[in-house]
Amino acid sequence: MTGDRHRDAVPASRKIRLVLDLRRKGVTDTRVLAAIERIPREKFVPDTFRDRAYEDTTLPIGHHQTISMPSVVARMSEALQVGERMKVLEVGTGSGYQAAVLATLCRRLYTIERHPPLAERAQGLLDALKITNVTTRIGDGMLGWPQQAPFDRIMVTAAADGRIPQNLVDQLGDGGLLVAPLEDAEGHQRLVRLRRDGHVLRREDLGPVRFVPLLPGVAGR
Ligand code: SAH
Repeated sequence: MTGDRHRDAVPASRKIRLVLDLRRKGVTDTRVLAAIERIPREKFVPDTFRDRAYEDTTLPIGHHQTISMPSVVARMSEALQVGERMKVLEVGTGSGYQAAVLATLCRRLYTIERHPPLAERAQGLLDALKITNVTTRIGDGMLGWPQQAPFDRIMVTAAADGRIPQNLVDQLGDGGLLVAPLEDAEGHQRLVRLRRDGHVLRREDLGPVRFVPLLPGVAGR
């Protein structure tokens, strides 16, 4: 037993237990489950919470923000039906964990975060893990990323008030899917999926969720 034991990787059994838990909760997409098994969530949570990285729970990441629950990351990734040739936009990089999962499923991921220190930390973690198909940007994700539009898939990981920002809808390509939490006037949040077929937009309800709010502008500016 060396004194460095606490620096060792989190036991693989914890990851396997989490994947079994996700299966039990109804996640069936094997590409999503494999991505969750592959990405070291413990790197994306603060050191003090490292032991809890494979519990199905949200954890604080600073700036009053949280890393999403693994089951929500899995459910949203599954709902987005990401193909390996797709170009994907994520709004709300946060810790970068959902970005890392999406990046293993798609060709290229663009992700926007309004808190500069979170964006910088996430990009550093993705670089350290040699995940090279992600571009992180500090900005207001409500504006989308017009220079890179259209996107095959868009995921919003903060709750929009009432409606999905029009810029994001406009940047969704034909046949595209967008998944986002929406909050109603009573403060209840539902996960919705939007599908674009030409000019026709269809909306599905995917059940209740709990996210931090989608806010305008860059924090601290
Ligand atoms: N996907 C993240 C969880 C995100 S928490 C993860 O895997 O860890 C939601 C994030 O959305 C927060 O970091 C918050 O700062 C960010 N956010 C909220 N409104 C935003 C906006 N308009 N543009 C970009 N990021 C936003």
